[in-house]
Amino acid sequence: MFSGVTRVSLLHDKFGRQITDLRISVTDRCNFRCVYCRSADPENYRPESELLSWDELERLGRVYHGLGIRKIRVTGGEPLVRKGVEEFIERLHGVGFEDISMTTNGHLLAGRCERLVRAGLRRINISLDSLDPVKFEQLTRTHSYADVIAGIEAVQRTSMAPVKVNAVLVRGINDGEVEAFAAFARERGIIMRFIEFMPLDADRSWTRESVVPAAEVHRRIDAQWKLEAIPNEPSETARKYRFADGAAGEIGLIASVTQPFCGHCSRIRMTADGKIRTCLFSKDEHDLRPLLRDGASDDDLAFFIRSVVHEKEPGHRINEPDFAPPGRTMVSIGG
Ligand code: SAM
Ligand code: SF4
Repeated sequence: MFSGVTRVSLLHDKFGRQITDLRISVTDRCNFRCVYCRSADPENYRPESELLSWDELERLGRVYHGLGIRKIRVTGGEPLVRKGVEEFIERLHGVGFEDISMTTNGHLLAGRCERLVRAGLRRINISLDSLDPVKFEQLTRTHSYADVIAGIEAVQRTSMAPVKVNAVLVRGINDGEVEAFAAFARERGIIMRFIEFMPLDADRSWTRESVVPAAEVHRRIDAQWKLEAIPNEPSETARKYRFADGAAGEIGLIASVTQPFCGHCSRIRMTADGKIRTCLFSKDEHDLRPLLRDGASDDDLAFFIRSVVHEKEPGHRINEPDFAPPGRTMVSIGG
């Protein structure tokens, strides 16, 4: 099947970065409307026929695996709103991926954790942007706080523990909760990750002032509970810390805006409608869907993917004076 492309021909770009991680968005739909991601106004979802089918996604999974992709993260939109995601994870596992993870808002998770583990899911990240139920509901525009906490607790009872909990901090909204989140990590033995707000929101309300720098988060937590750095791989997005007093839990800081890690990036993304994005902030997308639907062979697909990855941009340009956000927003890219 992979006559011209063997498992050893790893994906790499012209700057020598090896690409080993793929984030697949399986849907552009979501049951939340987080203020830093979606708009309160109704948005048009893409018609179902534009989204790749599970069969198409599995086929591409095989091609990516053959090209050396090792880690797959299933995301969205909200991946758990698409029916059949458990079976898809099972299929990815069958392809040979060992590191399959998911990012979810946790709303539909509690009752499905066990099945996801059986399907082969190894790790999970759950978004939780406030520990105050009223603020949580304002941030997500839902009434789901209790369900998300139940999702976190359910994961903690499975082999996917410790769960990673992601909070996007937005100045003036939830930045007062840094210490409370750190206490939450200690009490529950979870990995609490703080993500800098990026200019990918549908309302285009991002400003530089609304970003809460990771350095500030570190300083504030360290002032209360001394932190010790945990060595990490250069390609990891988060800088990781443990509590020096030996308490359970960990802190992760994702400083995408103030300390970009593009030079070590090992990731590409694929949108639910089959577009490869070599960076969150790519201006150009590369469409696999017509190839898939017009009879391309696996070798053709692999050749296309390799050519696209070769041209991966050196880095995002958020801090450049002429920066302009991409056309797509986070919900339809797949974070
Ligand atoms: N719906 C799932 C969720 O919220 O976990 C998965 C998709 S969501 C787009 C993936 C991740 O992107 C979440 O952790 C979310 O908090 C993050 N995110 C969304 N908009 C963002 C923004 N403007 N800046 C930084 N992170 C963002
Ligand atoms: Fe939905 Fe996730 Fe975006 Fe929130 S961050 S609106 S849960 S896709």
